Amino acid sequence: MIPAAFDYLRAHTVDEAFALLQQHGAEARVLAGGQSLIPAMRFRLARPGVLVDINSLTDLSYLRAGKTVLEIGAIARDRDIERAPWITDRRWSLVHDASRVVADPVVRQMGTVVGSLCHNDPAGDWTAVALASRAEVVVRGKDGTRQVRIDDFLVDSFTTAVQEGEMALSVQFPAPDDRTAGSYQKVERKVGDFATAAAAVQVSLNEDGTIRSAGVALSAAGACAVRVDAAEQLLAGQKPGAELIRAASDAAWHRSEPQADLRGTVEYKKHMAGILVARGLRQAFARLGVEA
Ligand SMILES: Cc1cc2nc3c(=O)[nH]c(=O)nc-3n(C[C@H](O)[C@H](O)[C@H](O)COP(=O)(O)OP(=O)(O)OC[C@H]3O[C@@H](n4cnc5c(N)ncnc54)[C@H](O)[C@@H]3O)c2cc1C
Repeated sequence: MIPAAFDYLRAHTVDEAFALLQQHGAEARVLAGGQSLIPAMRFRLARPGVLVDINSLTDLSYLRAGKTVLEIGAIARDRDIERAPWITDRRWSLVHDASRVVADPVVRQMGTVVGSLCHNDPAGDWTAVALASRAEVVVRGKDGTRQVRIDDFLVDSFTTAVQEGEMALSVQFPAPDDRTAGSYQKVERKVGDFATAAAAVQVSLNEDGTIRSAGVALSAAGACAVRVDAAEQLLAGQKPGAELIRAASDAAWHRSEPQADLRGTVEYKKHMAGILVARGLRQAFARLGVEA
């Protein structure tokens, strides 16, 4: 289908992009990779009057893997993350796993992590990864920039804390230490499909082998990605083991509130949410050299 008519404006600086968004208000939408927005416009699910293209803002194409934070700029592509030299470090295993299963290689050439977070599809991959990693999104608004915790950023399906006239500049993932590993587990009907069910898991161990902290989140399990607080709480302070994993898996089953659709029934998706959390935890522990 052909989108409704719109004006196309290409910004050359962040200031210019921001000024255009402020000028056009509710009419305007940011165009990043276009992998969600353009299909939505073609199906007339979105009808922005103005597109503000940020693809020329090369100063937002960075991936900065620092000591305390990994910052991903608004036009860094999924493929950039998948190919980053540091991504194979065990500490980044959650982000690495996800970077290889988001959509397909063609979509990953253009799609951005920040765009995916801003789109906030209920079955998106990066939203669950961001929750389990306790990421923060840097948003530019009228009063300057602010950091928004991912839990506050993801408001509802296709709705985020980015307000009219604002744009997201980057997402920051806290840098995990050497005793941290993660795993992203996704069931999809075929390569390139959205998740039927998916789980993002990240665990950090103390020196004595007990769990210092855990991040557990699900995609395709509600209006948008959800944190499994109960699993995180019961894991913290415990020794990894089969019983503990079973309890975390049960907590995920309880937390999952999926919709039935062509990808599966509610029962199947809830069942898979539990299974995937268990698989993710086992893999994360194995990556840390712990059999559980
Ligand atoms: C065939 C296909 C399969 C896919 N499969 C998957 C999948 O399995 N898993 C998955 O997670 N995704 C999937 N996607 C979606 C894909 O990952 C998108 O790239 C991603 O969701 C959006 O990123 P984008 O950069 O393309 O954003 P765009 O499409 O450009 O924008 C998406 C939305 O976010 C807003 N936006 C973008 N950037 C900003 C910003 N910096 N500030 C404020 N608002 C912004 C836009 O205005 C728009 O509303 C698939 C897409 C396709 C076409």
